[in-house]
Formats: sequence, C-alpha cells, structure tokens
Amino acid sequence: MKQDNTVITENLSEWYKKTEKQIGLHKDTLNKKDHKKYKLDLLLRIARRLENFSNICSECQTFKQDLTKLLQDLSYSLQVSNTIQMSKEEHKSYNYTINNIIKHLKKQHNLISEGYYTGISTGIGTAVGVGLGAAFENTGAGIGLGAAIGTGIGIYLERKAKKEDRII
Ligand SMILES: [Zn+2]
Repeated sequence: MKQDNTVITENLSEWYKKTEKQIGLHKDTLNKKDHKKYKLDLLLRIARRLENFSNICSECQTFKQDLTKLLQDLSYSLQVSNTIQMSKEEHKSYNYTINNIIKHLKKQHNLISEGYYTGISTGIGTAVGVGLGAAFENTGAGIGLGAAIGTGIGIYLERKAKKEDRII
C-alpha cells in the first residue's frame, strides 16, 4: 500500500502541487466564512479532477490555466489588503469560471455534484407515487410510497456514484 501512495505522489504534476499549496495558504489566511465564499475546498477538488483529465482532455488542460489565474487574483488581493476584496462583478466572473469548469466536468467526464441524486429523488418519488396512486386508486398512499421509493433510489445512486468516485 505504501508503495502505491508513493507512485501517486510522483505522478502529480508540479501544477497540482503548486495549486494545492496555494489553496492551503489561502485557507490559512482566510476565515471560515471566506473559505466558503471563495469555494476553496471545491477549488481543490476541481484541481484534482483537472489534473486527472488533462492528459486526455485539452479543455481540462485549458481550465488548469483558468484555475491558476483565479488563484493568482486571490493572492494578489490578499497581498494588497490581507482580506479578499472583490467587486460584485469580479466575484460574479470568479463564480462563472468555476461553474464553467464544473459544467464541463459533468458533461464531458460524467461527474456529478454532491447531493445530485438525493436532490432529484423527490422528483422521481413524486412521479412514481402519482403512478402508484392511480394504480391503487389512492393518490395519498401512492405519493407516500413513491416518496419512500424515491428516497431509497436517491441514496442508492448517491452511494454508487461515491464508490465510483464520480462526485466532484
Ligand atoms: Zn475535460
């Protein structure tokens, strides 16, 4: 096992190591509220995905540069004032860049956001429930049963995705 870990570490590019270090530095400097606001944990998870896919995907290669640019902007802001000062517009474009990368990861690499399946399970449950309700001629009971089935399916799919390492 120990040997495997060594191999993984060696395979990580300089880019990833640098990115990880920089995100770590930002996390040390910023308070918890700003961690969330600037999605630092998410950035690190995205970095790992881009690292993995950039060998086979030119778009991910480009996104790596976008991510580096985002972190540079954060660093610059921190150097100037110790806190991040982003205008509304800048913050908007910051989130836009992140969302753009996530959109690509979902579409091209079959990944999902955490809670995706549990989120849609209510919809599945209601649809199943209405069908069952019609069959039983008891809409209330049908929807109740459907909701339980939907939740079960959602939890199952979410676990499966986690096992397959498909959650961003
Ligand atoms: Zn890609």
